[in-house]
Amino acid sequence: MDDTIKCPECNNELKNGYLFSSRRISWSDSPESIFVDYESEVLVGTPFFKMKKMPALRCEDCHVVMFKHN
Ligand SMILES: [Zn+2]
Repeated sequence: MDDTIKCPECNNELKNGYLFSSRRISWSDSPESIFVDYESEVLVGTPFFKMKKMPALRCEDCHVVMFKHN
């Protein structure tokens, strides 16, 4: 089974790893700066005990990182 995923930009093989954050990670459709983020979609919640690592893929050439949340 070939589960190699290629970079969407340069088509290089993506490197497997894990992404984690000590803060939550949010998503917004808008580039505007905000003061409060109650309305934004939280992709990765605040860790209370252990930092959850998520399987991720990255391209070291383009600095693209892909990860699945949840
Ligand atoms: Zn790339």
